[in-house]
Amino acid sequence: MQIYKLNRHLTAFYFWGDLEPANAALPVGVGSNWMFGTCQALGVACYVAHCGNDALLYDTLCTPEQALSVRNYLEAELNIKKIYVVLSHWHLDHVGGNAAFADCPIIATHKTREYLSLHKEGIEAGTLWGEPPINPLVLPHITLTAANSIFLNELEVQLLPFHIHSDDGLTLFIPQYGFLFPGDMLEDSATFIVSPEHIPQHLEELDWMRRLDIKKIYPNHGRSFIIEQGGYQPEFIDAVSHYLKSVCAILKKEPDATVPPLQEILADYFEQGIIHYWQPYENVHRNNVEQIRSAMKL
Ligand SMILES: [Zn+2]
Repeated sequence: MQIYKLNRHLTAFYFWGDLEPANAALPVGVGSNWMFGTCQALGVACYVAHCGNDALLYDTLCTPEQALSVRNYLEAELNIKKIYVVLSHWHLDHVGGNAAFADCPIIATHKTREYLSLHKEGIEAGTLWGEPPINPLVLPHITLTAANSIFLNELEVQLLPFHIHSDDGLTLFIPQYGFLFPGDMLEDSATFIVSPEHIPQHLEELDWMRRLDIKKIYPNHGRSFIIEQGGYQPEFIDAVSHYLKSVCAILKKEPDATVPPLQEILADYFEQGIIHYWQPYENVHRNNVEQIRSAMKL
């Protein structure tokens, strides 16, 4: 675990991915099991907003052990007494550590709770996404259907729902700093497509997101050195829109077309340093292309 102090009110906790050159997941990538594919190969972060003795944790990572290491740090090093947990969405690499915060209010969109509740048995048995199981899976205690704010003493944390990446998404926005925490709605190097039929809505909502007064962006799957050095620029959102539009345009013209690699599709954004090429995302890209291709042939 690497800890990055973003400022006096925000701390990032980063695991695996590009942090560990000997990371066993890197040559394997997507397809071995969900934890290798989503967390270990891509790298995974969670974020904590804190003010005084109150803190808000955004996502609980992949395992209770990881989540507990974050909790121990908050209590021992930052003297945190009250912890709210907010979940970005229901995907397993974001809720695996909920059990370490079972005694804290866990907050999510109403849909996130619905999905977790619906799939609880399969998630706990390790059959929904396969091994490893998350058992017990602790469900959110409080659900939202619209934007809301939580105040950590004088620090306002806004909870803003968007339908990007999945239809249960919840971002954090900290108006005092203009920091956006988008969960999996923005990933470096490419977004992960799970519902290609909703891409038009994703694009529309990315446009809405772009209108926020954003200074920096901190994704859950991004490059560790960018998070450490102060986060991503708002143009990160443009890179994700460009990617979705480019892949869809190629396949719309010719559904059997060969789609160029990520490095080529996003070349301008890599060159400008808006995003940073991370090879395991070629697997994500290939999977995305096949998802969009199948959806277009329906
Ligand atoms: Zn996700």
